Amino acid sequence: MARIVVAGGAGFLGSHLCERLVARGDDVVCLDDLSTGTEANLVHLEGERGFALVVVDVSTEVPVDRPVDAVVNLASPASPPAYLARPLETLAVGSEGTRRLLELAERCEARFVLASTSEVYGDPEVHPQPESYRGNVDPVGPRSVYDEAKRFAEALTMAAHRARGVDVGIARIFNTYGPRLSEGDGRVVSNFCVQALRGEPLTVYGDGSQTRSLCYVDDLVDGLLALLDVRATGPVNIGNPDERTVTELAARVLALTGSRAQIEHRPLPADDPRRRCPDISLARRVLGWEPKVALDDGLTKTVSWFRGRLAT
Ligand code: UDP
Repeated sequence: MARIVVAGGAGFLGSHLCERLVARGDDVVCLDDLSTGTEANLVHLEGERGFALVVVDVSTEVPVDRPVDAVVNLASPASPPAYLARPLETLAVGSEGTRRLLELAERCEARFVLASTSEVYGDPEVHPQPESYRGNVDPVGPRSVYDEAKRFAEALTMAAHRARGVDVGIARIFNTYGPRLSEGDGRVVSNFCVQALRGEPLTVYGDGSQTRSLCYVDDLVDGLLALLDVRATGPVNIGNPDERTVTELAARVLALTGSRAQIEHRPLPADDPRRRCPDISLARRVLGWEPKVALDDGLTKTVSWFRGRLAT
């Protein structure tokens, strides 16, 4: 049993991680400013022994005074519309928030795990992406607020490891989906599920030939827990290499919902990566981890969750 700080614990991934940590008997201090996360994501943990939510922006303070064994930093807006709406806050939480959380880890001699992102690879010229690929990010493009914040967070994390001996692990998280995706955050899976269930046109950006590789949230959390426990430094890709075009994904959502909604093409957002697929050899070797949930199974669970949400 351990005492673990989860920054960004009220978000989509964070809430699933908090739930798994509490279930295995760990004490969890969740820090979240609720700017994109919600208390609703944590209702089932309220009053659970060992769980506490502190509403705070970690880029301004990290109010944890008792010793902790680990710090997991997931604090950041994560969907493109969410970080594009909060550009300066995204840069602040990636830089100053990460620095404060690293300081806490150093003070407590705790393990520190950074949730980084496949966005550090930008619009990749190497495919699939291994961790050794240094990326193709436009430092002044609109998405740079997220990409460069995470790249800087990785640099800070490695500096704290090398200069101060902090025990760190860096996860590069690829596109993830599942229950508790926010229906309004503009991501492809949430948009398509909500649109199909409402019988509204599915908005395919560009010609739909761009690819993503989608990982079901339970698999993703298994990977993060492995990194927390195995003590590897990484960076290590955590994602599902099952690569699909956006058009294929729209077709799967239509098939699984039984919806007759149309496809409607919209302009491709600026900076949108053409393709993305993780090379997970390192995760397999070092963490003994690989995803298990097939796309149709994960989508079925996700659709059923959105069906419940839309019914209330
Ligand atoms: N996308 C789309 N329709 C939508 C939302 C997204 O076609 O309603 C596309 C988007 O242009 C991108 C992919 O789906 O190519 C994944 O987008 P998302 O915002 O989920 O994540 P990203 O990988 O871009 O951060």
